Amino acid sequence: MKEEMVRKGKVEVLRRLYPADLESAEGIAVFCCDLVFSQAHRQFLRKNGFGRFVSISIPGGGGFLAQPSDSPERRTLEEYLQLLLEELKVDRMVLISHSGCRWYRHTYPDEADYEAKILVDLCAMAQRLKKDFQGVKTEGLFYAERQGGKIRMNKINSDRGVSK
Ligand SMILES: [Zn+2]
Repeated sequence: MKEEMVRKGKVEVLRRLYPADLESAEGIAVFCCDLVFSQAHRQFLRKNGFGRFVSISIPGGGGFLAQPSDSPERRTLEEYLQLLLEELKVDRMVLISHSGCRWYRHTYPDEADYEAKILVDLCAMAQRLKKDFQGVKTEGLFYAERQGGKIRMNKINSDRGVSK
């Protein structure tokens, strides 16, 4: 009962804050809130047919989803995703990670190879979405990196491993 009331409250907030999104959203994009990268990601999404995707911009770009199942951050993000998927009535998702992510450095201080971990987690997130969110299609999996003053978006195939 209490859970249902909390959910109703969250839905009410969504309706108030994002009325247009609830009407016309086509999917959900999750990416890191790093300012330089998140601006590039929004531009990339607009130019590549994901312009009507609602953004979840959080530290690590959804790296929470790759954490152990008892992680409170993972549970919070999963609950929020579930709520959005149901309320927006969408089943399409895009996941984006980026090189040099500070959330990864902070969260995994002993990690020897951050970039490899970011890529492995990106693929793990896609697999987890497929398994835990039935019917959800991850239409885009991207790894962004700085290259000569620009941000290059690499499409990643989660079934073929982490090669770019
Ligand atoms: Zn980041």
